[in-house]
Amino acid sequence: MGSMWITVMGNRCPYCQRGALFESWFGLREACADCGARFSRQPGAWVGPTVGSYGVGGVVGIVGGVLLIGGNLYFPHAEVALAFVACAAAIVSYRFWKAAWVGWLYDNGYVYPDADPP
Ligand SMILES: [Zn+2]
Repeated sequence: MGSMWITVMGNRCPYCQRGALFESWFGLREACADCGARFSRQPGAWVGPTVGSYGVGGVVGIVGGVLLIGGNLYFPHAEVALAFVACAAAIVSYRFWKAAWVGWLYDNGYVYPDADPP
């Protein structure tokens, strides 16, 4: 079980553990090039990773704001820099949320080749 999470976080298909999940940083393949396992079967399947990455951006923004103000570290235009960092954290974390989400979908029986339904 634990190895499946290592597999998906390492950009590998949870079904065959060989094919790559992503073809680019954000570009999740529709299906595994190796075994044909389909990663997305329903519209709206990626709402979870989107919410998760927005959450990361929000936490980074709030914690950064508290540190800037509470730690008396504010400098001119610090809010602009903090907004940039929070957005970057949300964008970078999206891929990892999406990989974890594929693992969760697989764990719940939604990731399998069309030719081999469960
Ligand atoms: Zn595969």
